[in-house]
Amino acid sequence: MSKKGILTVLGARPQFIKAAAVSRQLQVLGIPETIVHTGQHFDENMSDVFFREMSIPAPAYNLNINNLNHGAMTGRMLEQVEEIILKEKPSAVMVYGDTNSTLAGALAAVKLHVRVVHVEAGLRSFNMAMPEEVNRILTDRISSLLFCPTDAAVANLKAEGFDGFKTQIVKCGDVMQDAAYFYLDKAKSSSKILERLELRSDFILATIHRQENTDDTNNLKQIIEALNRINRKLRVVVPLHPRTRKILEPKRIKPEFTIIDPVGYLDMLMLTSNSKLVMTDSGGLQKEAFFFGKHCITLREQTEWVELVEHGFNRLAGANAEAIYNAFSEMINKKTNFDIDLYGNGKASERIAHYIKQWL
Ligand code: UDP
Repeated sequence: MSKKGILTVLGARPQFIKAAAVSRQLQVLGIPETIVHTGQHFDENMSDVFFREMSIPAPAYNLNINNLNHGAMTGRMLEQVEEIILKEKPSAVMVYGDTNSTLAGALAAVKLHVRVVHVEAGLRSFNMAMPEEVNRILTDRISSLLFCPTDAAVANLKAEGFDGFKTQIVKCGDVMQDAAYFYLDKAKSSSKILERLELRSDFILATIHRQENTDDTNNLKQIIEALNRINRKLRVVVPLHPRTRKILEPKRIKPEFTIIDPVGYLDMLMLTSNSKLVMTDSGGLQKEAFFFGKHCITLREQTEWVELVEHGFNRLAGANAEAIYNAFSEMINKKTNFDIDLYGNGKASERIAHYIKQWL
């Protein structure tokens, strides 16, 4: 790798979307980037389609590490990313979000005294039972440069004493907004998902994949029961995550709504921007609902995107069927003015690239 280059470690769907936005801006400024794909998400629907549709630079390494328990997965990634860092000698390692790939990339780098850049730093759910929360906290602590999407994220870091650490904290906005704005035109001209599913704007878009909802059978049953009931009033469409699909059948949970395979980002943009309401336990989708002026019901007890709840765009409903249905009844006809800049209005990646250029 040439001098002053970045090694990006990624592996899961939301990271492809974030990296698509940032990689483009790194290229604009001529910052060399080498991508390592850990393989955490690996097939056509969960990985390849994003690289193709979003023109993400092809990974130089694909580690194909997946379908393992957290420890084994993170451990194998750590071992292999370390070898790559030793070989490539990057100026810094960049990681995104909160997955095992994030933590493995950061840990491998810091132990070799290579600086870590964390994009989407400072988010907290304050629920340590979530694997994502553990990954975020540890990654933030061992990073040299933290790019925070929101004021709340900066405040979380300050509350954890980061002012006393040698860590640079930069509030830059949310790179997912950059991606949503950038790819919408392409989605409008190429996606056929609305025609394929015979949808106009009379539907609810829902996703379920969090471990706290998939591994807890009662939570999953309650959510499916609520979506079945709502589907009798307004069509519910769910691009189903493979983790959730694997669990429904053996547990004999029977959805009555429209289930489709996971879709590419362009199809997802069309579904979100044309829906009447979004219901999800995804982090990214809560914000995408907001970007397109849609209310969201979050199927969790906490969210890291607290500003959405504070402004009434989002409601936390947990995984209780009655609470979810009540939230639906309240939110479906709600009128809210979405005209507020919470996430940097599509300029976050540009800020990140400019900052990195002078920092490297
Ligand atoms: N997404 C997608 N296809 C799908 C479901 C989600 O492209 O079938 C996108 C979604 O629009 C968002 C991202 O994947 O940009 C969110 O990823 P996910 O929900 O897997 O993870 P989280 O955001 O919760 O970390």
